[in-house]
Amino acid sequence: MRVKPKKKYGQHFLYDINIARKIVSYLKFNDYDQAIEIGPGMGILTNFFPIKKKFFLIEIDEESVEFLKKKFNHLSDNIILADFLKFDIKSILKNRQTAIIGNFPYNISSQIIFKLIENRNLIPFFCGLFQKEVAERICEKEGSKKYGIISVLVQVYYKPNYIFSLEPDVFKPKPKVKSGFITLKRRKKTKTLFDEKLFFKIVKLSFHQRRKILRNSLKKFELDKKTLEDSIFDKRPERLSFDEFINLTKIIQDAKI
Ligand code: SAH
Repeated sequence: MRVKPKKKYGQHFLYDINIARKIVSYLKFNDYDQAIEIGPGMGILTNFFPIKKKFFLIEIDEESVEFLKKKFNHLSDNIILADFLKFDIKSILKNRQTAIIGNFPYNISSQIIFKLIENRNLIPFFCGLFQKEVAERICEKEGSKKYGIISVLVQVYYKPNYIFSLEPDVFKPKPKVKSGFITLKRRKKTKTLFDEKLFFKIVKLSFHQRRKILRNSLKKFELDKKTLEDSIFDKRPERLSFDEFINLTKIIQDAKI
């Protein structure tokens, strides 16, 4: 018996067992208290999890959950039927350092990333498949055309690594796009304190007009002339590393006091 692929849940099952093994090998279970898999489907990745480790599977599709409970019946209590985006993740994070892994639908991947960032204190490691372009964008450095909001927001907290690409034909049914597998390793806490809400706002505002220099795209903050003399405001957002965005945030913070 197999799970019938459902479009509404973005199901594209991975079929290549060697790729599955390789993906799971990037998660060093021993380094963390527990792990979560998002969207396990028929459990091709789950197959390679070490039995003795604690992990949870969060799956939205009832048929998949039934399938998984039969296949991994010793895990039954840890197979959760839920929408990961709505699920109260804190209820299973408790105070445990948790790694996350998954091959989930690409249309919810940015929301997954935001949930990750929100809960980063308890998530030191994340790895997963993304639409190739999104995977590249997350990992890209400043100066590249692909560098944008998601690159900065992720890189402030995590060090990304682009591991490999996959063609559509390793999935059934085949997706329309290529995939990229990435890992994210949480950075040590930044020493400098900055207003995170303001930081998010600045990054978003800057990239909304990515061709403009910051002096023009950040007019909304009504900064005084002296503050605006700083040469950082001559730059376009794609030239700023995440560190420089932190500096920019502090400059604006100080100017507003
Ligand atoms: N990881 C499996 C399945 C990939 S298909 C594999 O690699 O073969 C994507 C999986 O995510 C499906 O099982 C789908 O039901 C599940 N899914 C989709 N939306 C979800 C959500 N919001 N929360 C949890 N799981 C979800």
